[in-house]
Amino acid sequence: MIDLNGKRALVTGASRGIGAAIALALAENGADVAFTYQHSAEKAEAVAKRIESVGRRAIAIEADSADPGAIARAVNRAADVLGGIDILVNSAAIGNAGTIADMDMGHYQALMDINVRAPVLYAKAVMPHLGEGGRIVTIGSVLGERVPFPGVTAYAMSKAALNALTRGLSRELGPRGITVNLVQPGPTDTDANPADGAADFQRSLTSLGRYAEPREIASAVVFLASPAASMITGAILTADGGAIA
Ligand code: NDP
Repeated sequence: MIDLNGKRALVTGASRGIGAAIALALAENGADVAFTYQHSAEKAEAVAKRIESVGRRAIAIEADSADPGAIARAVNRAADVLGGIDILVNSAAIGNAGTIADMDMGHYQALMDINVRAPVLYAKAVMPHLGEGGRIVTIGSVLGERVPFPGVTAYAMSKAALNALTRGLSRELGPRGITVNLVQPGPTDTDANPADGAADFQRSLTSLGRYAEPREIASAVVFLASPAASMITGAILTADGGAIA
């Protein structure tokens, strides 16, 4: 049984999509939740209200993951208001469409700052707050493991870096009883990758023949964030409907 009562979580990028589903699922299982967003203040407010409607505390924090100062302020605010942090979930990320040959290097830098540097900075800032039983869960992607079509190389590179970050941090934090894991989704129905229109190709890559719903990724994260996953660390949990089977 999953019991997160009394736990305090910080989720990045939770105004929409997978991050929002994670924030809500953590709250439904008993956690108070602080979460970040970049632009979508109204959507963030709606997520906060849904968290409060299940009886948990919610704090929506505007914090651009590209800005190290904003990351430090977000962690401090979450810890101050919630009285500590037990769980960090790194979900905020941006994608890229285009080959390396055509890639704008400004976008490349933004992608690496948001997708790779930010999870490093969040982990670094949250570490001092985590005690025995602390949890870091990062959202990677199956594209970090296999690249089945062209045009996503830089994004795939950024997600592959998170797999190494997860394994390395599990070594660094294991002696303190803190686990560090990564969930890698396949095609999931969000604004970033809607399951309509041109989605048939991605659907055809999966064994189950369909996209995931964000809550199906969130349930994997909740498990890893919970005491039930106490012996799992440095693990890469694929939740992709068999896309890389
Ligand atoms: P969405 O684009 O639907 O949502 C992105 C979320 O991240 C929003 O809440 C957005 O905030 C926030 N965000 C984006 N940039 C920043 C930033 N610079 N600073 C702070 N917050 C930011 O993405 P998904 O839900 O689809 O993706 C969530 C995670 O899952 C990502 O790590 C993604 O790589 C991964 N993933 C997704 C897959 C998919 O098929 N959807 C497949 C594999 C992995 P705001 O609303 O304010 O813009």
